[in-house]
Amino acid sequence: MPESLRAAIRDVVDFPQPGIVFKDITPILADGKLFGKSISLLCDTLGGAKIDKVVGIDARGFIFASAVADRLGVGFVPVRKKGKLPWKTRQTPYALEYGEAVVEIHEDALQPGEVVLLVDDLLATGGTAAAAVKLIEELGANLIGISFLIELAFLGGRAKLAPHPVHAILTY
Ligand code: AMP
Repeated sequence: MPESLRAAIRDVVDFPQPGIVFKDITPILADGKLFGKSISLLCDTLGGAKIDKVVGIDARGFIFASAVADRLGVGFVPVRKKGKLPWKTRQTPYALEYGEAVVEIHEDALQPGEVVLLVDDLLATGGTAAAAVKLIEELGANLIGISFLIELAFLGGRAKLAPHPVHAILTY
């Protein structure tokens, strides 16, 4: 069944800039069965472990992470791009596969010791997820794992996330 997800992903060459092959996941979102399956597979990466919150990364990560949180019956916490969160935040800068940015989390979004799963759509260089990991750890939460729908393994991003367990449903 992960292969039906793979078959639905659309490669868009030279988006958003030359040299990038963008993995378009919108055909998965548009198909109720495939979307539901992607959420089931992301939930399965926990192996039955109990968690308190799912953290998702702006913006496609929100789609998967919030659905995972709802499926598990736990809360959802957004890591957002700079300037979007209204309350007091912690920030960290990071480098993207294309460009640079800053991500933020509300400073009261996670309590010390809460068990957290981090979810994003795609692992490329790992810079974005590593920034989210830093914010989660600064708030004192216990990061149990990081789950992606897609891993671009040839970019080696997984190494930036050690020693945290990294799971990917589809690897390229
Ligand atoms: P990175 O920080 O390099 O791991 O980049 C990961 C973030 O950028 C993810 O949140 C993805 O949504 C997005 N991203 C990076 N490269 C791609 C790609 N080739 N296709 C789709 N999304 C990408």
